[in-house]
Amino acid sequence: MSEFDYDLFVIGAGSGGVRASRIAASHGAKVAVAEEHRIGGTCVIRGCVPKKMLVYGSHFAEELQDAAHYGWSIEGMRFDWQTLRDTVLRDVDRLETAYTSTLDNNKVEHFHKRAAIAGPNAVRLASGREVTARYILVATGAWPVMPEFEGNEHCITSNEVFHLPEFPRRVVIQGAGYIAMEFAGIFNALGSHVTVVNRSDVILRGYDEGLRDRLLQITMARGIEYKFHCPITKVEKREDGTLMVTPGQQDPIQADVVLIATGRRPKTDGLGLENAGIALGPKGEIPVDEYSKTACDSIYAVGDVTDRVQLTPIAIREGHAVADALFGGEQRTIAYDCIPSAVFSQPPIAAVGLTEGEARNQYGNIKVYSSDFRPMKNVFAERHERGLYKLVVDANTGRILGIHMIGPDSPEILQAAAIAVKAGLTKADFDATVALHPSMAEELVLMR
Ligand code: NDP
Repeated sequence: MSEFDYDLFVIGAGSGGVRASRIAASHGAKVAVAEEHRIGGTCVIRGCVPKKMLVYGSHFAEELQDAAHYGWSIEGMRFDWQTLRDTVLRDVDRLETAYTSTLDNNKVEHFHKRAAIAGPNAVRLASGREVTARYILVATGAWPVMPEFEGNEHCITSNEVFHLPEFPRRVVIQGAGYIAMEFAGIFNALGSHVTVVNRSDVILRGYDEGLRDRLLQITMARGIEYKFHCPITKVEKREDGTLMVTPGQQDPIQADVVLIATGRRPKTDGLGLENAGIALGPKGEIPVDEYSKTACDSIYAVGDVTDRVQLTPIAIREGHAVADALFGGEQRTIAYDCIPSAVFSQPPIAAVGLTEGEARNQYGNIKVYSSDFRPMKNVFAERHERGLYKLVVDANTGRILGIHMIGPDSPEILQAAAIAVKAGLTKADFDATVALHPSMAEELVLMR
């Protein structure tokens, strides 16, 4: 008999927590997981997955518009928000069931309750019950930040945006990061008037400047308005439900929905970390070592709550590695370089490796190749939007240090190209690869 109730108790059944639970159980550990909301976490329930479905749903606007140039005429076309919303929410239910079955099939016990750390080997459930575990894994994720301003209670975050009862004709989005640019694209495509307000004049900080400029140019041409250097100072609700949004010192803008997308903070409120001697880091994160171990030897943390890289595939890798290390006899670290990422804006952006600026700082002597082209499907549809691909190369060795792309399907294309960057391939390897014609992806091997 073990001296503990469980070998592993996981707090949070999101991407990292579910993966760690399943793998630990497959190694023979007795595992339990507690989740206060829904099994699946941010990515499945209120993030990546439903967002991508809305991107797909909204993209039909462009396809239908372009279809006329290919000879299709569509009479009586109309869009129904409730249909799209409910289809997305139904699929989220389906995925939650699938995730729950994964836990059940692996004999992971799950508690639909909030849980907090009561000591290095103890967890207290909201019911008051206390259980013990040899190891505890914190995978509670992150939560949207709501800046302080008068009337912020009238605003929503990405948590609520999937449930809007009515389609908003006028949307104001605060922030110009991932969530802001993705929802600006969704609402704009579906027919809302979208205004993006941000505290700086930088969109998608961290991405290649050329790509960001291109996205700005294209989205402005598509009708998205930007107001820079003026974060919201006040939101007032009128009797008819209209929201009067004051950006900085500017005149108020009318809106039906105000979406706040100003980052996500690690979710540690009331987690009881102090009971195990764990202090938070400067950004409110749980500090961990390269094996995801906290300051307490029996407690680990993975995913957004550690604020390393806030991306689902990273949380999954971290959770998997912890389970393998604790119960599978294989200790390994995660490589945080060369992580491919994408913004599902319209058009989307995708990138891997170093930007031009980062490469210049680290390597000094670099070469940048670029292809600025009009995708064939845009030419046919008389759509004047251009794609832009860039290769950042170490001039001394020819090694590809980064790939940056904006254009239709760029995330789909980049995933394969990221393998080449991760493998350390060179520009000569790209040049030696025969183009796949006609495609947009062929631009990657045709840059000279
Ligand atoms: P981001 O960090 O991407 O962007 C935050 C934005 O809000 C920036 O424009 C920033 O401005 C602004 N901002 C930050 N703090 C404040 C403040 N206090 N007041 C006013 N403005 C502020 O955050 P998101 O919320 O868009 O997304 C959170 C995370 O979720 C992302 O970092 C990403 O890791 C993940 N995510 C990933 C997606 C993907 O992979 N496709 C999709 C969606 C989310 P400035 O830059 O000027 O400082």
